Amino acid sequence: MAKKQFKAETKRLMDLMVNSIYTHKEIFLREIVSNASDAIDKMNYHVMTDPSSGMSRDDFRIDISVDEEARTITVSDNGVGMTAKDMEKNLGMIAYSDSFDFKNNLDENADSKVIGQFGVGFYSAFMVSDKVTVASKAYGDEEASVWESKGTDGYTITKGERDSVGTDVTMHIKEDTDDEKYSEFLSVNRLKGLVTNYSNYIRWPIYMNIESGEWKDTGEVDEKGEPKREYITVIENKVINSMIPIWQKGKDEVSDEECIEFYKQTFYDFEDPVSVVRVDAEGLTSYKAMLFIPKKAPYDFYTRDFQPGLQLYSSGVLIMDKCADLLPYYFRFVRGIVDSPDFSLNISREVLQHDRQLKSIGSNLTKKIKSELERLMKEEPETYREFYKGFGPQLKYGIVDNYGMDKDTLQNLLLFETAEGKTKSLAEYVENMPEGQEKIYYIVSDSVERAKNLPQIEPVLEKGYDVLLMTDEVDPFMVNFLNKYDEKPLCNVSTDDLGIESEEEKKEAEEKDEKFKDVVDFVKETLGNDVEEVRISRKLKKHAVFLTTKGNITLEMEKYFMEMPGAGEENVKASKVLELNSEHPAFRSLEEMIKSDKEKAAKMVKIMYGQASIMANVPLEDPIAYSDLVLSMF
Ligand code: ADP
Ligand code: MG
Repeated sequence: MAKKQFKAETKRLMDLMVNSIYTHKEIFLREIVSNASDAIDKMNYHVMTDPSSGMSRDDFRIDISVDEEARTITVSDNGVGMTAKDMEKNLGMIAYSDSFDFKNNLDENADSKVIGQFGVGFYSAFMVSDKVTVASKAYGDEEASVWESKGTDGYTITKGERDSVGTDVTMHIKEDTDDEKYSEFLSVNRLKGLVTNYSNYIRWPIYMNIESGEWKDTGEVDEKGEPKREYITVIENKVINSMIPIWQKGKDEVSDEECIEFYKQTFYDFEDPVSVVRVDAEGLTSYKAMLFIPKKAPYDFYTRDFQPGLQLYSSGVLIMDKCADLLPYYFRFVRGIVDSPDFSLNISREVLQHDRQLKSIGSNLTKKIKSELERLMKEEPETYREFYKGFGPQLKYGIVDNYGMDKDTLQNLLLFETAEGKTKSLAEYVENMPEGQEKIYYIVSDSVERAKNLPQIEPVLEKGYDVLLMTDEVDPFMVNFLNKYDEKPLCNVSTDDLGIESEEEKKEAEEKDEKFKDVVDFVKETLGNDVEEVRISRKLKKHAVFLTTKGNITLEMEKYFMEMPGAGEENVKASKVLELNSEHPAFRSLEEMIKSDKEKAAKMVKIMYGQASIMANVPLEDPIAYSDLVLSMF
């Protein structure tokens, strides 16, 4: 029989495909098994509509066998099969998908989960094979046909033998090269692993001969009189796929425990997730999703090593292990599975990013996750707090990311420790604000303990207002984007105008500014460029001094930038402000000193500045010189 040439386009496409569409050679098995499953689906359709077919649903099976010596893998099915004509059309023409047509012609309620729709999957066999033989007998046909090809040079179709309806695809595996070890695919365990990974949820049973061994008593005894045992290997023809994916089952068919067990096994977590979110969407795109919100952040979560993403399945076939584009950055901790019969097996990362269908699935899932987190926060506050310990910073990074565009989604999920020793959401803070309080007060520091004791929160607490303690590295950046909540401005207790003075207090303060102008000028002159401004404090009650800033860069932000690798001289600097408590005895003695001994007064100023730096947790420029200075006063 004459060799037929592939169509010219087919040739070019085949080269392209074999070398570039698929990044992993191993997916060839998934493609061939999916085709077998499709063929059975089609046959199942005939069985249901034609009682004379003599077959029942339970007869359907896919078999994978390996012949190591002959270097072949054969995937057999008892699906619809192909006539010689079908072979010509389906295997001789790339990008023609009969399965796609079949699916489109089905009525809506047909029991069919046909996967194919692209018409290129079959050719992936050539990534690992130098020859592929397809022997098939079609439903309703008397004769069997054999299609054979060694790749791009063409194919032959001849008459063949096959007793029953179905197809055998035999792949002759390539010899190993220096770069590629094709022989690995001749290992039963490797193939079994590929089935579990990619085709575990194909809904027809996949059989393989699996070798297992055990020690058995022989019935004899050895010299010592002990029973003799021998190792017996048995080969069993076993079903190796689990068939029904847990996420395809109805909510009432699967217990919470089962879902949790599935999560731990699939995503390698020791802890139970805090939530399982299940979605069963019908409509323009129908899909099922099973999502998990973990309890604890994996050790590498905040590093570049962490790979976020959901698993994408198309009718039970894995098409992508970590699809990171489905959920937004701020929910990158969510694990889980999305399965839609509308996904194409040949989906690539590039396609995904622009896919409208996926975008709409993504935004729907995002909403579900958000409302689940809100529910947890309200109904299971303890659990939510545990979750928040690990992932709170991620939610905050989410607000900073995209310049605050997502703050409406995220702000209600935030929690803060407060100066009153409580944990509050922004909503709870606002709800509990006493009459007259107009701002949301917060203070930034590196620990809750330190934040609580900072002198500048005293006047706010004295008023009976609570203060949010912001102790995460990302907090000062996040607050900049948050800016307001429920129309109430966020007020940094250290740097912003507190807005809590009465008219009378304001007047008093202005008088003080006037009265102590000389002292302030002296201090500023002494400190020079170390500080941007010196002023009489309106915040200090008990303490003598404190250091704050002016403008957008706070001390915490300066510190953050200083600690970044490659931080240099011309780094982002905060404009420092030194505040003095004019009621404090230290201030009084400074005032006296300026009159009597300017040199000593200058030393005193430097000491006060040093003390303010220490209180603000700002490192002293020269600790030794500072220590000498303090001790020189005695
Ligand atoms: P797709 O599966 O996207 O349609 P493929 O390249 O994987 O594309 O397969 C091309 C076509 O070959 C299928 O649509 C189907 O008609 C036919 N085919 C492949 N394998 C089998 C099989 N085992 N039994 C019957 N038909 C098959
Ligand atoms: Mg296919």
